[in-house]
Amino acid sequence: MQVTVKILRYNPEKDEKQHYESYQVEADPTDRVLDLLEKIKGYQDGTLAFRRSCAHGICGSCAMRINGRNRLACKTLVQDLNTTKITVEPLLGLRVIKDLVVDMEIFFEHYRAVKPYFVNDEPPPEKERLQSPEERERFDDTTKCILCGACTTSCPSFWANRNYLGPAAIVAAHRFIFDSRDRAAAERLKILSDHFGVYHCHTIYNCTDACPRGIQVTKAIGEVKKAIMTGSLD
Ligand code: SF4
Repeated sequence: MQVTVKILRYNPEKDEKQHYESYQVEADPTDRVLDLLEKIKGYQDGTLAFRRSCAHGICGSCAMRINGRNRLACKTLVQDLNTTKITVEPLLGLRVIKDLVVDMEIFFEHYRAVKPYFVNDEPPPEKERLQSPEERERFDDTTKCILCGACTTSCPSFWANRNYLGPAAIVAAHRFIFDSRDRAAAERLKILSDHFGVYHCHTIYNCTDACPRGIQVTKAIGEVKKAIMTGSLD
């Protein structure tokens, strides 16, 4: 089948602003959008810039807007889009470096701000820090995050104020706040209760819709809000 791929292009060395360019590509219904971008770059226009790494839904590099919705290009099949017209744009809310490549620095700055690592200064037990299956289940969903940025860059609150830590940072914090072995929950909750924390979330659910890992992002944010308000992790 023939598909038309319309890409929002921008080369800072010669373009004053972003503009669309269209490409005709021969595709199989089971081709992924990433395959189409590779064909365009390999055979039609080698200047096209986009991020990719694992190409199997694990690294999170190829998040972009596909037909108006944030998705991973490596997980989006042509047949899933139900159209032969495919529009590909960079993630919203971040500075475009070139074509589909955006500057992720503020995204990772917000991620680092919530201490996304295990904190426990108590002397380690002889064997291991035990945890029951129920305690592990408490934060299982948020362990699946691959830091693709699809949630944060689909959030109108983030578009309006890039100081808002955003859904991905809150998901990262949730993963440790509800880990029974960690000891920095209070510190993280304080960070998230401040002016740029969870109260910027207006429960719009774009983040949950966008997440390629199926994480219940809005639910996780709600659990963090509840922990702040009640002072309890139950
Ligand atoms: Fe990507 Fe989902 Fe993690 Fe957000 S929560 S960064 S959408 S994997």
